[in-house]
Amino acid sequence: MGLSFEVSAESSGGGRRGVLQLPHGVVQTPVFMPVGTAATVKTVQQETLEEIGADGAGAGIILANTYHLYLRPGHELIQRMGGLHRFMSWRRPMLTDSGGFQVFSLAGLRKVTDDGVEFRSHLDGSKHFFSPEHSMAVQIALGADIMMAFDECVETPASWERTSQSMGLTHAWAARSKAYFDAHKHEAPWTAEFGGTQSLFGIVQGGMYADLRRESAERLVEMDFDGYAIGGLAVGEPREVTREMIARSLEILPRDKPRYVMGVGYPDEIEEYARTGVDMMDCVLPTRAARHGLLFRSAEAGETGPAVRMNIKRVEYAEDRRPIDATCACMVCKRYTRAYLRHLFVAKEPLGATLNSIHNLAFYLDTMRRVRDGLAKGDSVNPPGG
Ligand SMILES: [Zn+2]
Repeated sequence: MGLSFEVSAESSGGGRRGVLQLPHGVVQTPVFMPVGTAATVKTVQQETLEEIGADGAGAGIILANTYHLYLRPGHELIQRMGGLHRFMSWRRPMLTDSGGFQVFSLAGLRKVTDDGVEFRSHLDGSKHFFSPEHSMAVQIALGADIMMAFDECVETPASWERTSQSMGLTHAWAARSKAYFDAHKHEAPWTAEFGGTQSLFGIVQGGMYADLRRESAERLVEMDFDGYAIGGLAVGEPREVTREMIARSLEILPRDKPRYVMGVGYPDEIEEYARTGVDMMDCVLPTRAARHGLLFRSAEAGETGPAVRMNIKRVEYAEDRRPIDATCACMVCKRYTRAYLRHLFVAKEPLGATLNSIHNLAFYLDTMRRVRDGLAKGDSVNPPGG
């Protein structure tokens, strides 16, 4: 048994309050998944991740990147160490991507054939090859609760013809991913120990074309995955286009399976998509922004919008005794002033990146908790920014 998913409440706008049961625990949805690229959510230790957020519940599920772990320290080493959960001492659910997105981001370092992608490591220039089967084998060795099918990510912008051709390759690779997964899914590092199997999600592509998005969703649903992701978005297109592509895909994807939008976004975006029926999202933004001194906080009197961005390095915070966000109950806002956080950032002290990351992650997790509470109470939709 890989996963079970139950929707307990649904809003008129399609938002769903659900519970996703995975081999390593239960995830309340809609959920935001912090990104732990190289088996670490950068600068934040695991015991903190388990407590982050106003309710102290922490992150329910985190993501790790197959490409990075395959190159360093290597999936075989991680398998010998008992799998990713044990290696990094994270006992809750995890998800791995397929490696495709990173490989396709290596402009000039890759060659695509029907069989797979040849690429050069960004670390040492060494040559590697990823096929759908190889991506599955690597992800099984890592042993996350949820794995992703290997897909081609088309460049943006791309013509309809080019996007359609790329989508065809993604569908062929999805079928090959699924065939390999079905034959090997009992080989996760922990299956023998406590039972259960990994789950595999298909990825809807189709670029910025509504007809292709619908077609892609239809093909993938025929293949019957455990859940479905919507990929290739938030790559520089206008927000209305992202919204439209998500909506067209959701119309086709089954209501009884989890639906995941990859790589989005700002706090107001994750809130909006959750309210229209997306169950899972991930993004490097809260941690990456934090390391650059960019913090998210709720609006104060006289400000507009659900989330305000503040740059902690500004001189106006040098003697500011207030917390980042007076309404935030995170461990950083309870204890530290803006003045101290600005000092850490300006002095390039590592603690600054840690504290900023903890607050930003708490802000994202609390945003989703608020959405979940609203959906459970039967909130109707009120899309921010319309
Ligand atoms: Zn805070």
